[in-house]
Amino acid sequence: MNTFQGLDQKAIDNFRKYLRIPTVHPNINYGKCSLLITSMHLCLLDECVLFLKGMARELQLDFNVFTIVPKKPVVVMSWIGQETNLSTILLNSHMDVVPVFEDNWIHKPFAADIDDEGNIYARGAQDVKSLGIQYLEAIRRLKRGGYQPRRTVHVSFSPDEELGGADGMKVFVKSEDFAKLRIGFALDEGIPDETDFWVYYGEKVSRSVKIHCSGQAGHGALLLSNTAGEKLSNILTSFYTFRALEKLKAERVGMSDEVISINLTMMKGGVQANVIPPEFVLTFDVRIPPSGDVTQFEETVRQWCKKSGDGVWVENFPKEENVPVTKLDDGNPFWVAFKNVADNMGVKVQTKVLNASSDARFLRSAGVPTIGFCPHPRTPNRAHQDNEFMNVTALIDGIEAFQKILPALADV
Ligand SMILES: [Zn+2]
Repeated sequence: MNTFQGLDQKAIDNFRKYLRIPTVHPNINYGKCSLLITSMHLCLLDECVLFLKGMARELQLDFNVFTIVPKKPVVVMSWIGQETNLSTILLNSHMDVVPVFEDNWIHKPFAADIDDEGNIYARGAQDVKSLGIQYLEAIRRLKRGGYQPRRTVHVSFSPDEELGGADGMKVFVKSEDFAKLRIGFALDEGIPDETDFWVYYGEKVSRSVKIHCSGQAGHGALLLSNTAGEKLSNILTSFYTFRALEKLKAERVGMSDEVISINLTMMKGGVQANVIPPEFVLTFDVRIPPSGDVTQFEETVRQWCKKSGDGVWVENFPKEENVPVTKLDDGNPFWVAFKNVADNMGVKVQTKVLNASSDARFLRSAGVPTIGFCPHPRTPNRAHQDNEFMNVTALIDGIEAFQKILPALADV
């Protein structure tokens, strides 16, 4: 493995330190940023916010912790710009990571071991502690070079993104503290690609659709009519016929931008093997792209229920507010600045709708144009999988990309 020096080594060390803090679900103690550390034990538990506080101190960034929901701190560091009347730039990433199945890992998931090829193994190496460190290490380099941003740059670290952000970014964007940041444009996480820059300008609306199939209960030895099981079979056929067509479409146009994804994710019902139950309840994870017609899909599902027999119905078709997409055109000066940097670097930019969801949807719904972007080249996507890793060269290349992108955005 290559040896690294100076700022590169510092970035690698900080990345590994951050990865070793087990901010893993469930029941994360992010820390309360108390300086009253009375024992080593408390110090370890409060590690995450304290680590970030240390980074802010080192980089001479203003440091604030906003706690809208108890025990769910949102950390915001600020690099004050020269023209404080201008709207600001936000660089967001989340502190939390998803659980691990430790037996399946070749390295301990919170040891941040580094192998001979320079791969650092840890939960969060891709999703998304890498991004938080890359923002900060790019700022370190820019500061060393004497650069001063025109606009103020905020770097935020949110809690609970992996749980849907309900106690994190979702409530933070509605707070006065958030309004006071006066954000004009934001970057948030994306999914890395081997070579190109993938930029996410919108997200699919996620809905869990619950279908009740009720019918005649009775003895398991009889061939009764009108049973819940027959109706379940009918409704499944409707959902999965539709799914097969969407899958064909995905093979043609790719997974994200026009395709509705559907999966049966939960089934409930039955008490005993020889008793036909009065009801089965099915839950489907349905994701509709921003261009899709949610009302029409809802009507289609109601038709499927009707066709499947009496007593088949949808429980509260979930109404999540429709989040606007971020326009990527000449009318968005931040996008133009971003694109110019990529063009100058000779990197191809691909714009997409994110298949999953992230904090970006809350920023967009608060009126902040936001793009999802992770600049980790040559990184096969292992987010949420076993043996998640990031190569040190990809980490550093990403920092260097942000070294160009941040000033371009802050000087718009
Ligand atoms: Zn993430």
